[in-house]
Amino acid sequence: MLILLNSYPLLVSQNLVFRSKQAAMSGSVKVIESALSGLETLTQDNVSQALAGVDETGVSRILITDTAGRVLYDSRETGSAVGLYAFYTEIVQALGGNDAFFCRYDGQAFLSRVAAPVVYHNETVGAIYAYEYDTEQAELFKNLRSNLLRISLLIGVLVVLLGRRLSKMLTGRISDLLQAIRQVREGAYSHRAAETGTDEIAQIAAEFNSLTDRLQTTENARRRFVSDASHELKTPLAGIRLLTDSILQTENMDAETVREFVSDIGQEAERLSRISEDLLRLTRLDSGAIEEAATVEVAPVLQRVVRMLQMVAQEKDVTLHCEADPNAVVMATEDDIHQILYNLMENGIKYSMPGGFVHTKVTVDERVVVLQVTDDGVGIPDEDLSHIFERFYRVDKMRSRAVGGTGLGLSIVRDTVQRREGTIEAAHRAEGRGTVFTVRLPLAEGGEEV
Ligand code: ADP
Repeated sequence: MLILLNSYPLLVSQNLVFRSKQAAMSGSVKVIESALSGLETLTQDNVSQALAGVDETGVSRILITDTAGRVLYDSRETGSAVGLYAFYTEIVQALGGNDAFFCRYDGQAFLSRVAAPVVYHNETVGAIYAYEYDTEQAELFKNLRSNLLRISLLIGVLVVLLGRRLSKMLTGRISDLLQAIRQVREGAYSHRAAETGTDEIAQIAAEFNSLTDRLQTTENARRRFVSDASHELKTPLAGIRLLTDSILQTENMDAETVREFVSDIGQEAERLSRISEDLLRLTRLDSGAIEEAATVEVAPVLQRVVRMLQMVAQEKDVTLHCEADPNAVVMATEDDIHQILYNLMENGIKYSMPGGFVHTKVTVDERVVVLQVTDDGVGIPDEDLSHIFERFYRVDKMRSRAVGGTGLGLSIVRDTVQRREGTIEAAHRAEGRGTVFTVRLPLAEGGEEV
């Protein structure tokens, strides 16, 4: 931009000067031309006579030559060229019958040369040559040039200062952001970047902060999960340890007690294996490595689950009811549907009182398959309803342990349902005690809409 500012206006004004010079000097030459018109041949005398009446022309020097290029008149008195031959390009051109003009700026002055033929009855009888050395306009031109240079310098300095200030401001904020990123990378998840302003850097800082929020939440959940899981594994292990120590340290323990202790050890081992199975299932769901979905009819899967749970229900004196729409078809795997129904119905049985019931209904509502498991058991208090899908969350720890719960069943159900693009919710049973779990899954393409 500065180069342009320093060249374009200068070029334009130089051209303007050249053009005005051409106009002015051609005018002067015309005056002389008309003074000489009518002369058949040019001689020193008749030319001097003809020019005696011509006023000041304003040019630095005028030469008049005959057709051979010999100078007949020179306006300069000292060092007059009268009698000499002048073969300037412009004179040669003028003697050839053409007007000629040349102008240039040499850094000090504008040098202009103009020449025109003197014509008598269509014949060239000589040439007029005018020369000007203009330092006045050159001075103005020089001033313009130095002013432009000064302005450019000022702009340059301002741009550099402003640029440095701006880049310092930007790099300062970016390095603050970088600092925050490094801190979080090192594990300081509570650290946040400063969000000043509304520009792109502030937006990046805000995005980074929300990312860190999520990271912190995930990290907290992971820590809680690891500590909960180790605690859950520790309890049965401690039980086994205690029981084995008792057997080993008690002398002459009767066979009946040993059998009882060993059976307890077996139960604890079973619990351990249930927990590790559930943990494995959750880890698989977390990793996102899910089996490809296929169309699954829900009714036969429900039948199978009922058959498996019938014995448990009878033992607890809980009645199992179920009804399923044969059109209920979902995109999942049989194992997914089995897992969902089994966990929900088993919970229903586990948390029911003798004489209670667990009712499972599978219906199709427009393009949604609805699985509803209702029981009239202990129910879930309001404050726990929103937490029961969290890992290891139990309303009543003792009861859950007593009935063989791991605290992971509902997390597995929720994750499975979400993986198959469905939703799950828990609510109180509308009439009387108990809970209703409702799972909604999209009806598979080809399934019959109701
Ligand atoms: P658990 O293995 O302990 O049953 P879940 O994840 O299946 O773990 O359930 C979490 C908690 O939600 C349970 O410990 C229990 O307190 C509560 N819960 C689940 N289902 C029912 C139900 N049908 N009735 C009452 N409480 C329930």
